[in-house]
Amino acid sequence: MRKFKTESQKLLDLMINSIYTNKEIFLRELVSNASDAVDKLYFRSLTDSSVQLAKDDLQIRVAFDPEARTITVSDSGIGMTEADLDKNLGTIAHSGSQEFKDANDFEGTDAADIIGQFGVGFYSSFMVAQDVRVVTRAYGEDQAFMWESDGVAGYTIKPAERDTHGTDVILTLKDNTDEDDYDHYLSEHTLRSLIKQYSNYVRYPIHMLVTKSRALEKPEDAGDDYVTEYEDYTEDEVINSMIPIWKRRKSEVSDEEYNEFYKGDFHDFADPQRVISVHAEGALSYDALMFIPGHTPFDLYSRDYEKGLALYSSGVLIMDKCADLLPDYYNFVRGVVDSSDLALNISRETLQRNSQLRAIANKVEKKITSELEKMRDNDREDYDLFFDNFGRSIKFGIYQSYGAKAPELGPLLMFYSLKEDKQITLDEYVEAMGEDQADIYYAAGDSIDRLRNLPIVGTIRAKGYDVLLCTEDVDEFTLQAMRTWQEKELKNVSTSDIDLASEDEKKVAEEATEENKDLFAAMQEVLGDSVSKIEVSPNAMDAPARLTTVGQMSLEMERILAQGPDGPQVRAQKVLQVNTQHPAFETLKGAFGDDDKDKLRLYTDVLYNQALLVEGMPIEDPLGFAQEISKLMS
Ligand code: ADP
Ligand code: MG
Repeated sequence: MRKFKTESQKLLDLMINSIYTNKEIFLRELVSNASDAVDKLYFRSLTDSSVQLAKDDLQIRVAFDPEARTITVSDSGIGMTEADLDKNLGTIAHSGSQEFKDANDFEGTDAADIIGQFGVGFYSSFMVAQDVRVVTRAYGEDQAFMWESDGVAGYTIKPAERDTHGTDVILTLKDNTDEDDYDHYLSEHTLRSLIKQYSNYVRYPIHMLVTKSRALEKPEDAGDDYVTEYEDYTEDEVINSMIPIWKRRKSEVSDEEYNEFYKGDFHDFADPQRVISVHAEGALSYDALMFIPGHTPFDLYSRDYEKGLALYSSGVLIMDKCADLLPDYYNFVRGVVDSSDLALNISRETLQRNSQLRAIANKVEKKITSELEKMRDNDREDYDLFFDNFGRSIKFGIYQSYGAKAPELGPLLMFYSLKEDKQITLDEYVEAMGEDQADIYYAAGDSIDRLRNLPIVGTIRAKGYDVLLCTEDVDEFTLQAMRTWQEKELKNVSTSDIDLASEDEKKVAEEATEENKDLFAAMQEVLGDSVSKIEVSPNAMDAPARLTTVGQMSLEMERILAQGPDGPQVRAQKVLQVNTQHPAFETLKGAFGDDDKDKLRLYTDVLYNQALLVEGMPIEDPLGFAQEISKLMS
């Protein structure tokens, strides 16, 4: 007896015992493996002339035996060697065991979804079977092998007999319990409807022996009162439709069919948000069927996430996830591209340089963009949901291209508008701008509520201008990469280069700064390197002081980058702007006038730290700050 790996046991346990719903998907998983095995063999025959296949070599069969309580899924595919059996079926989730460990908290998730995600499809058999046997013979080998397991601790592999290449997976069903009736799988009707529901578009015929009834011929000597007699007979039938769903016109396919196809093929538990279907003919002919998922896949932003569309050449799968078909910013799109223009035996290595493929990728991208624009213009509620799910990818696209992609992707962006109290596009912002407003204003930080209350946001609002409140890490980087939109500068309200004050106001502030330069020099001594300058704020505000920055690096960027590897090294150049209209300023001046060094130190420090807090920045010495506050109160 060979043992399953430890994490495998954990996963097996989870699957078998905590998945109460949807046990029926075991059939879909087995059929999909059978179809993959046939695909692999067919693909080999196209690229290796020594592999000759007959038509019957490309089929799948489902059979059942009520007496023995078995269900058998057979294929004439590539089969497995003894080593394959050990590797592929002995280590559960060998491709995804790490993710499994990382995402160990499955509470509240749909466990059926996990099966697909971790590539443990085969093990779903143990949801219904007490024993599974896999009899298989690899193409080109004489010896067959049988793998057998009860799905608890381990498995055995022994030599076996099989006439031709391919695989039989034989499930012996569990005994019925009060909650679960496993016997109902042992019926033609159930199996047929499961195949139709989950595997209708599998490209190879799925055969099943079905029982039919026919009228017996009327005997010669039958009297007038003869009642027609019937007999049962069995017939081999192909259950699935086989026509790939992406070849069919959108008008001929129901939403249900699309949803089932999507969920089955892309291992999602939820319906897609949008279906995009393309049939192109002419210079470049291809069919594409794409889906925008209804939720963010949990691993979308992890390193292991693989983008790409499945690539078929005239119905034959060339590769599962062709990354070259999708730009990174549309990495969330799932689907299929099928083109008769691609040479079948094209190698995976040369795909990248293939000009047809690049042309298709281009069209696919344009199509996705135009569908998103349509959704944005005609279905804003849907688009809101879409943008919450995947807006991040689009923002990254602009940032990573240093703004080069802004003309295409910029119109898709949305940010929260202070004035409108909802997400709006940049075009909508510009449209609503008054004549006197020259720039687009945005504030970046971790929460809308905090941004709304920033002193500078209040100042801008008082002028009647709108401010975009940006709460995703990537927002500020994206907007900086864009620089402008519709020739209006995108300005971060937290940096000092925003020009809200009038010339007069600026002059007054400069003069006041000059007047108080001794006070500011003393304060600067207290704060040291923490700020590069102290000055009088040219803008009216309610707060006693605010922090702003000079140069490219803003406070929010410092905060985000501080979480990264070279965090503490990168610092924004901070400017403390003091509000001379605030009573706190008189207190400061008083302490300075009395030459009370302790008080001046205390007040300066408190002023600086509370300005940091208002900007959402961590303070360097929270305990010290708390003590200072207590001192103020006592
Ligand atoms: P996945 O299909 O996602 O790879 P599965 O758990 O469904 O994961 O299958 C594990 C592996 O076992 C497959 O990748 C394949 O190599 C092998 N396998 C399963 N069923 C068959 C089959 N009918 N013929 C050949 N190989 C198979
Ligand atoms: Mg599988």
